[in-house]
Amino acid sequence: MAETKYIFVTGGVVSSLGKGIVAASLGKLLQTRGYKVTIQKFDPYINIDPGTLNPYEHGECYVTEDGRETDLDLGHYERFLNIPTSKAHNITTGRIYQNVINKERKGDFLGKTVQVVPHITDEIKRNVRYLGKTGKYDFVITEIGGTVGDIESLPYIESIRQLRWELGRNCLVVHLTYVPYIAAAKEVKTKPTQHSVKLLQEQGVQPNVLVLRTEKELSKATCRKVALFCNVEEDAVIQSYDVPSIYEVPVVLANQEMDTIVLQKLGIQTDSQPDLTRWKIFLENMKTATQSVKIGLVGKYVELPDAYKSISESLLQAATYHHRKLDLRLIHSEKINEKNVEQLLSDLDGILIAPGFGQRGIEGKFTALKYAREHNKPTFGVCLGMQCMVIEFARNVLGLHEANSTEMDSITPYKVIDLMEEQKNLTVMGGSMRLGAYDCKLDKGSKAYAAYQSDCVRERHRHRYEFNNEYRPAFEAKGMQCTGINPDTGLVEVVEIPELKWYLGTQFHPEYNSTVVKPNPLFMSFIEAAIN
Ligand code: GLN
Repeated sequence: MAETKYIFVTGGVVSSLGKGIVAASLGKLLQTRGYKVTIQKFDPYINIDPGTLNPYEHGECYVTEDGRETDLDLGHYERFLNIPTSKAHNITTGRIYQNVINKERKGDFLGKTVQVVPHITDEIKRNVRYLGKTGKYDFVITEIGGTVGDIESLPYIESIRQLRWELGRNCLVVHLTYVPYIAAAKEVKTKPTQHSVKLLQEQGVQPNVLVLRTEKELSKATCRKVALFCNVEEDAVIQSYDVPSIYEVPVVLANQEMDTIVLQKLGIQTDSQPDLTRWKIFLENMKTATQSVKIGLVGKYVELPDAYKSISESLLQAATYHHRKLDLRLIHSEKINEKNVEQLLSDLDGILIAPGFGQRGIEGKFTALKYAREHNKPTFGVCLGMQCMVIEFARNVLGLHEANSTEMDSITPYKVIDLMEEQKNLTVMGGSMRLGAYDCKLDKGSKAYAAYQSDCVRERHRHRYEFNNEYRPAFEAKGMQCTGINPDTGLVEVVEIPELKWYLGTQFHPEYNSTVVKPNPLFMSFIEAAIN
């Protein structure tokens, strides 16, 4: 396409409506018509990136190949579009201000007063258009985090207002709102949507397309009413009712021809149709699977499923490819002890020990791992989960009872997991972990090699601690092998106990690299072992 088209996705009424899923689904429909699509997210908070945020704030921190800690919606973009995102795909208010302030210190503003309009909005607009200017994309979809009406979203909405003038027909705004069902009155209510659109209009932006999130399907009359009150064409009022899986949303939107409407409004004439054949096969497998595979996910944020979003999606994808329903049991690591471990874990087909930071819940992970190892349960340790595998093995097999990671116990006599050398003198916590994709050489004959069918893989990282190579001979002599190594630094990336059915830990995070059309090989192999 000659010119890049910019689609904005804003949200109103309440948060957590699934703007990311709607953005990713629309992106998918355009992509399957043959267009080059990318999706970026702008988050209105002041943190430079979500790397320093607790998962209780915004859920999982997702990591891009090029090593940026980002919002979890980027995970959805990758899982739907099957193309990597990058540093440029997630921008926060903190970063916008930091860039502007750096320019001010350099004297770039030539004596001018630096203001929200035009300086902050200019910086937002520059970042919005950055990916488009690479010439690689027909469509750049920009999701604006937060809810219209928040003080912190104002500069973003103002930037969209300005961009509509600058981009003319190449710009479109999709607004996602909520239509609640009031059980007592047996009625759906459109007023919150009307108010939310009014707010947008007051800020100078008229949405072109509305997506109404609702629990139940809405009548034509309801959509007509919304169209009338909100100044939007009737066919541009799309509904996104609750469906059993987020992966059905592209189909729901396609059935209402959302992509056709978007293309028409952007003045694009085309005979193409979205080709969801592969996607629908995946959905069909998900629906027709009758047997389930029971996986226990052991972590300390189980009351908050978004904290392990990429892991649960990777498990679901792999289970679906194996024609199984995923029966995912979230098990609180703080609640596992010697007495209840049997009851909690015995009927599981496989156990995944989650990544994480800090001491809380760590002993429960060791207890779970001892049980899993001694009962030969397929077990997958990811990042901290892998480090816990190492510590448990040191304590209970090598007899180093006080073995630990120096993250949990800085004066342990057996530092089997220790701070990486380059981390030792760091004073800044933000963006300073070992982040992003690095090479890993796999031993031929290992389970990891069998899964990937390759002896060199690249997976993403987010950690400060590593396996202490001094202990490698002791571990290998007793049966825990280091089967994946970073070829440049010697850092241990994968450990396995070959004698067991499937007992494997990775320092990297394979869950960041698993998509609907390309499930991650390690998750595939883990689920396969769990089924057998
Ligand atoms: N806390 C561990 C480290 O920093 C593991 C991190 C993780 O699980 N992402 O090395």
